[in-house]
Amino acid sequence: MVDLQTQYQHIKTDIDTAIQEVIDSAAFVKGKKVTDFQEHLQQYTGAKHVIAVGNGTDALQIALMALGLQPGDEVITPTFTFIATAEVAALLGYKPVVVDVDWETMNMDVDAVRRSITPRTKAIVPVHLFGQCANIEAILDIARTYSLYVVEDACQAIGAQYTFSDGHTAQAGTMGDFGCTSFFPSKNLGCYGDGGAIFTNNDALAERARAIANHGMVVRYHHNLIGVNSRLDTIQAAVLDAKLPHLDDYIEARRRAAACYDRAFAGNPHILIPGHQPHSTHVYHQYTLRLQGVNRDTVRDRLAERDIPAMIYYPVPLHMQKAYQDPRYKQGDFPVAERLAECVLSLPMHTELDAEQLEYITRNVLEIINNQ
Ligand SMILES: *Cc1c(COP(=O)(O)O)cnc(C)c1O
Repeated sequence: MVDLQTQYQHIKTDIDTAIQEVIDSAAFVKGKKVTDFQEHLQQYTGAKHVIAVGNGTDALQIALMALGLQPGDEVITPTFTFIATAEVAALLGYKPVVVDVDWETMNMDVDAVRRSITPRTKAIVPVHLFGQCANIEAILDIARTYSLYVVEDACQAIGAQYTFSDGHTAQAGTMGDFGCTSFFPSKNLGCYGDGGAIFTNNDALAERARAIANHGMVVRYHHNLIGVNSRLDTIQAAVLDAKLPHLDDYIEARRRAAACYDRAFAGNPHILIPGHQPHSTHVYHQYTLRLQGVNRDTVRDRLAERDIPAMIYYPVPLHMQKAYQDPRYKQGDFPVAERLAECVLSLPMHTELDAEQLEYITRNVLEIINNQ
């Protein structure tokens, strides 16, 4: 699905030097590379504050903690996504309220968001799924109308650009009260272990989040808030700082691969290529097909026989997950998400796909699907 080894070989000297510098400095925690990287990421994204943390899930948890919600407060998130958004809300004693998604973009359905608002709703947590922004302008409008917070899960969408109706643009993760991203190795900007970051343009929220990530401490050993311990290792920051200048090229490489897939599959009666959110660019964290009239799991198995990995993101919507069973929800409540869970198939997507690999993948996908 990803080829991190080849990517590393292209920038090996820079990475090795950056890691060696950290080892020589022995500043493994809170070293200079962490503040350097935060600054560079701030410049890249345009966010006013960047707070590096231990991973993307921590970023979401700390952002929600910084909002100061009360137990039982409702947090709206899509049901077709990775578990993290609902997980941190549940863990903090808030009530995850899930909504269906749009069939074309696979992102949060904003009409469903509007319908799910109650007097207890406090926050909306949209996920910019697979690398393109959710309909964030509409979500921000709803949030303004009902005085709700917005925490963007931009773990899959770093570098994606959203254009608002007044013409101004902003990057994924910098539009809500908070934005969160992950540097998990396979993410678009990945480190060599775990990492994450929180974005915000709000000084007071930044201060709270920074304190919460550091045991709720503002002055040493004075704990004003209940916090956690979540830090980006200096070595990971060094890797990320070396990779950040390449991020735009990495995004371009993903787009070229996606365009090649699009060309090969467009018009096939069994394949729906990814739909586009008209106001967002796409950074293709995943290239996810929707298959129809064929058995998705058989297609996946046949591809595996030909050494082509394909993954199902995501096979079970949140409302159907065992740990998140809730009397409010039953099978059939979120028909788009349930249908997607049965028909999606993500193809290999990374920065090192060459013409030959893409030809081999597209030819075999078409052969398998047309002969099923
Ligand atoms: C990867 C991911 C996360 C979690 O990031 P970690 O760094 O693995 O904790 C959260 N949400 C989404 C949508 C993700 O893709």
